[in-house]
Amino acid sequence: MNCYICQNSTEPDTTWATFLVTKSRLICDDCEQLLPTISGPTCPICMKPTHDAKKCPDCHKWSEHFTKDPLKRNISLYRYTPEMKSIMSRFKYRGDYEIIHAFESAIQSTYKTHFSDHQTIIPIPLHPSRQQQRLFNQAEAIVQKLYQPYHTNILARQDNAKQSKKSRYERITSLNPFTITENPPDKILLIDDIYTTGTTLRQAADLLTNYGAKSVESFTLIRS
Ligand SMILES: [Zn+2]
Ligand SMILES: [Zn+2]
Repeated sequence: MNCYICQNSTEPDTTWATFLVTKSRLICDDCEQLLPTISGPTCPICMKPTHDAKKCPDCHKWSEHFTKDPLKRNISLYRYTPEMKSIMSRFKYRGDYEIIHAFESAIQSTYKTHFSDHQTIIPIPLHPSRQQQRLFNQAEAIVQKLYQPYHTNILARQDNAKQSKKSRYERITSLNPFTITENPPDKILLIDDIYTTGTTLRQAADLLTNYGAKSVESFTLIRS
């Protein structure tokens, strides 16, 4: 078995003790130690590391902007360190789909700890032309590691070409890149690869809430 991140062998030198507990491992010890799991106090809304576990200034701004923040809570697994950046660029831009296997057990256990199967899972859609360039949607690749049903027919990304034909007024009033193609269910869990400013997730959450969703949460692999 080779490590999904560095390709080195994940098998320890075989001794009687290791022989008895042999189990296929997806990442080697060195890579495991480099993975920057989020720990310590964080903002209760977006999971940004803070020193006092209070709502961060950005989330305060979101609440003011929307009156009520449409995104109830975000849970992320890792911080965006240089190592994580290079792993993500292999995954997103160089088409290294396989690398997602390295995160499978962490994705599953985080999902089980924080979310419930009453939530309808929706991966954030990529713009169709971008999906063609990248060959796969990274949010969907993460969702597939949950081995749970998920929906790609509720939320869609608007077509850029159509956007540019709109009048200036129409463009300003339709800055939200998403559209709703089916009535959303009550409880939604959005999945994406990274939470940076939280804008994309809130644009999706805002639209879903306007169309009747009661609660929208998100699960992202990385909190940058
Ligand atoms: Zn490795
Ligand atoms: Zn926050």
